[in-house]
Amino acid sequence: MSSITSLSLPHSCEAWKPENFMEPESSSPYHEFFIEVFAQFEAMEEDGQRVTSPTKYKKFIMPRDLLMTGSTSWWSISNMLSQMDVPYNFQPFMIQKISTFARELASDADSMCRKTIPMVVALTVALGTQEQGLSRLVRASKSSVEALEKVKIEGFPTQCVVCLEDILMGSEAARMPCSHVYHGDCIVNWLKKSNLCPLCRFQMPAE
Ligand SMILES: [Zn+2]
Ligand SMILES: [Zn+2]
Repeated sequence: MSSITSLSLPHSCEAWKPENFMEPESSSPYHEFFIEVFAQFEAMEEDGQRVTSPTKYKKFIMPRDLLMTGSTSWWSISNMLSQMDVPYNFQPFMIQKISTFARELASDADSMCRKTIPMVVALTVALGTQEQGLSRLVRASKSSVEALEKVKIEGFPTQCVVCLEDILMGSEAARMPCSHVYHGDCIVNWLKKSNLCPLCRFQMPAE
C-alpha cells in the first residue's frame, strides 16, 4: 500500500475501511470522511516494564476534498493526531499512511457512490524512556542543516512526507545522513522545529 515501511519504528499506524457502516443521515451537503481513531500509548517504566494506556477514542468528520490535496491533507491529519495527543515528532509517517489510504479509499467504486466515506485508524505510540524526552522539540544545529547533501532525483519520483507532494524527477532535493530525501525547503523548515528525521527519527546534532 505505502512505499515507506514503518517496520523499524516502535510505533504503528493501521488504517482500514470498516464493514457494515451505516451511512448517517447527514445534514451536510458535502462529501465527507467519517474517521474513527483509536490510539494507545505505551511507555517504559524504569524497571523495564511496559505500561499501556487505556485506548483513546475520537470521531472526526472531514470534508472529502480536504484530504485529497497534499497541503491541506497534511495539516488536517496533523491536527487530528494532535487532538489524539500524538507528539508532533511522531506524526509524519502516520500522516503519510493515513493520507495515502484516504486517497485509495476515496477512489474505490463503493466510496464513489457514498456521501460519507468511513475509515478506521488505529495508532500505537511507543514512548520509550528516550522518546519521552524527545516529544519535546529540539531544533537541529545550523551547521548540520547547512551540511545536508543535495541530490538530483533520478529514476523514480519520490514523495516528500513533509508536504506530501512528489519531488519531481530531475529536481534537486536534500538528503539526510540517514538517506531519506525531502524537498530542500521542507526539510529545512522541519529541522527548525525538530532535529529528528520525519521518517525514521534519525537524530541530527541539536542546536
Ligand atoms: Zn516537500
Ligand atoms: Zn530518516
